[in-house]
Amino acid sequence: MRKSLYSITLAVVLASCATQTPKTKAPVPQPKPKVEKVHPTAPPVAKQPAPNSAKPEYYNVNIADAAKNDNTISYGSLVAANPQGYVISRTYFPAIGQNFRQRYLILHYTALDDDKSLTVLTQQSVSAHYLVGTQDDNEIYQLVDENKRAYHAGISSWRKDAQLNDTSIGIEIVNRGYTADAAGNRTFYAYPEHQFRKVAALAKDIVTRYMIPPTNVLGHSDVAPTRKQDPGPFFPWKRLYDEYGIGMWYDDDVKTQLQEQLLNFDLDKTQPTFITNFQQQLASFGYDLRSTGLWDTPTRKTIEAFQYHFRPQLADGNLDAETYAILLALLQKYPAK
Ligand SMILES: [Zn+2]
Repeated sequence: MRKSLYSITLAVVLASCATQTPKTKAPVPQPKPKVEKVHPTAPPVAKQPAPNSAKPEYYNVNIADAAKNDNTISYGSLVAANPQGYVISRTYFPAIGQNFRQRYLILHYTALDDDKSLTVLTQQSVSAHYLVGTQDDNEIYQLVDENKRAYHAGISSWRKDAQLNDTSIGIEIVNRGYTADAAGNRTFYAYPEHQFRKVAALAKDIVTRYMIPPTNVLGHSDVAPTRKQDPGPFFPWKRLYDEYGIGMWYDDDVKTQLQEQLLNFDLDKTQPTFITNFQQQLASFGYDLRSTGLWDTPTRKTIEAFQYHFRPQLADGNLDAETYAILLALLQKYPAK
């Protein structure tokens, strides 16, 4: 019964599922009697059990009903209790009602050099699951197991979710951040091509394995707009969308049409009713923003964060017609559920 239900491979419990390369996509929903959904090309696993693991079971595919739950693949890394004197039975594993805890991908820059980034993120109270340095090689550092919580987002929220450390994977990218002149004008620093490619490949792997939706691939500044600027206006979100199919981007034609309809924009934006409506639209898109009817500091900082992500050419915190049209185009394409 058990073997007919599940594909079980004896192996070690891997420290992290990040070390595996998924080879299949979501399991096709299957009728209950024929649930022998064996992973056709099981990822390589270590031959020898780890010293402290007494033949733990390793599930390549979670057979829960994908029609009822949209992310039920398990790529291994089964963590289970081992109560003294008792046996954990997995005859009824896995349940249909489950999903991944990893539902967001959040990108950061470190505003430190390579060495300091590694020191701070491993020795101090902040951390991230991954660190992408500036080296032009093929190495990416993992600092925290994907099943565990890293401390990268702080006080944060997006749409109905808050405290996003609980539900996210964090990637820190080594980048100088910004320098500010006496007037407070910020100069940000570009990401080298090889570093962007590392980040993109890593993001693609994470987003694919956890089926993270486009609306949940965000910058730190998106989820904490009044506190944070990272990964800043030079992170190429549009390329991430165009070349890797990751995250959100608007349709240019839709944006142009919407912008052409904003005939009285400069007058409209002086009206409290317009401002209130706009604040509600930003909140509906995902940002944590109260509606005050005023161009207050939180609103300006949230516009700036939005511009860093979606209109980086001019991220000054002022709402212009193009920025507004982009927001409207994104709201059409990615409506809040
Ligand atoms: Zn950050």
